[in-house]
Amino acid sequence: MTFEYADAPESTSVVTVKSNYRHFINGEFSAGTAGEFATINPATEEHLAHVAQGSTQDVDRAVSAAREAFTKWSAMSGSERGKYLFRIARIIQERSRELAVLETLNNGKPIRETRDVDIPLVAAHFFHYAGWADKLEYAGMGPNPAPLGVAGQVIPWNFPLLMLSWKIAPALAAGNTVVLKPAETTPLTALLFAEICQQADLPPGVVNIVTGDGSTGKALIEHSGIDKVAFTGSTEVGRQIAQAVAGTHKKVTLELGGKAANIVFDDAPVDQAIEGVVNGIFFNQGHVCCAGSRLLVQESMYDNFMELLYARVNTLRLGNPLDKNTDIGAINSAAQLAKIKELSIAGDEDGATRWTATCELPAKGFWFAPTIFTEVSQSHRIAREEIFGPVLSVMTFRTPDEAIEKANNSPFGLSAGIWTEKGSRILQVASSLRAGVVWANTFNKFDPTSPFGGYKESGYGREGGRHGLEPYLKVGA
Ligand code: NAD
Ligand code: MN
Repeated sequence: MTFEYADAPESTSVVTVKSNYRHFINGEFSAGTAGEFATINPATEEHLAHVAQGSTQDVDRAVSAAREAFTKWSAMSGSERGKYLFRIARIIQERSRELAVLETLNNGKPIRETRDVDIPLVAAHFFHYAGWADKLEYAGMGPNPAPLGVAGQVIPWNFPLLMLSWKIAPALAAGNTVVLKPAETTPLTALLFAEICQQADLPPGVVNIVTGDGSTGKALIEHSGIDKVAFTGSTEVGRQIAQAVAGTHKKVTLELGGKAANIVFDDAPVDQAIEGVVNGIFFNQGHVCCAGSRLLVQESMYDNFMELLYARVNTLRLGNPLDKNTDIGAINSAAQLAKIKELSIAGDEDGATRWTATCELPAKGFWFAPTIFTEVSQSHRIAREEIFGPVLSVMTFRTPDEAIEKANNSPFGLSAGIWTEKGSRILQVASSLRAGVVWANTFNKFDPTSPFGGYKESGYGREGGRHGLEPYLKVGA
């Protein structure tokens, strides 16, 4: 049964949402040349602010500022650069509630997640790379690792500030300067981060933020003044970017989609596995590239496991993302909701069986109830394509070999999960899975010391940890 809870909404008084936001270029906020667009709260469809639409000229101005700042920033000692990064990390901690509320308002994800996961991890990333800034020669990448120059960074809307931190913290620690473009539906925390850069007295031009849509991103990655492209988003756009930079001197990392298998063996600790499966697909409404969107359950325990899973999913609370008791927030945009609906209908049409959690959807905003498809076969679209929503596709297996074969039968290879009591099986299965990250008896655990990235159509390059420095350094030169 579900317990009744009194409403516990987080106050929004901690954050001031401005009516207009402009680009952050050369340490100052400045108007663009191409007008503006509106950004909304996806949970209510309420207007939040107007934001500048970045033009080719705006991008050009930002790249010039970054290029000019690079001379001094790269010549600064690592320990001096580290001081700025430590300062930024501390200010993020001090202003964490403000950042968490703004992220929830603009993204639709629950405050419980922004407050307890996103923002603490953002600070942790800056602390981690602050520590690397004066130790680059001990990172195992040669005696004198040198920065590349200006990094052009394009990020998605599912973890707006966390993806910013994955991009900006290692770039700056390594001595590069950056121009970052946040996603068009979630630009606000990046612009609050720009204020934090000012507060930290970061030298002008080291961080530049240009807002806008895909055309702004395209202008940035195609700009001849950048030396490095870092992209997180869809495989489709990733492919276009790989083509656009082919034959140039630009170094590239691509973090793309996923269709992770979460494999549950019949000796798994059941309660833990249920929590892990739920966290794997319903955390952040399933807007997670490494989401455990394919559940592989061993046939011998299937009925029992599914019964427990349905019961658990029915206790998830969907609703106001600002309420501290909310587990499932809003879908980030009307477009994303349409995509989730389209793929779910494809699941019905392909012959899978749909189960939907019993919960009421708010009248306004973009919502999708937790959904589980069974009777899924490997050829179904819902078994192959990334849904990027709260939709789980369930399949079964009999033997470990069958589980491995099914798990690897995907164009993607970002992450995977293994649930079993048996340590030797964890090692055997993990080493056979073509996935960048494999979690054992846990899922969706992130740590700034740990590298993250994919195989196959999930992209290339690693972010996080010591490995995350490499894409921002001239190595072996
Ligand atoms: P997207 O790839 O279109 O957008 C990601 C970022 O790239 C945004 O900032 C966008 O403005 C920018 N962009 C778009 N076109 C560009 C171009 N031609 N050149 C440079 N930048 C460009 O992703 P989306 O449309 O928001 O989402 C679509 C799907 O992508 C989702 O359903 C999901 O499957 C996947 N996705 C994956 C991740 C991830 O973390 N791996 C994140 C977001 C979306
Ligand atoms: Mn797109």
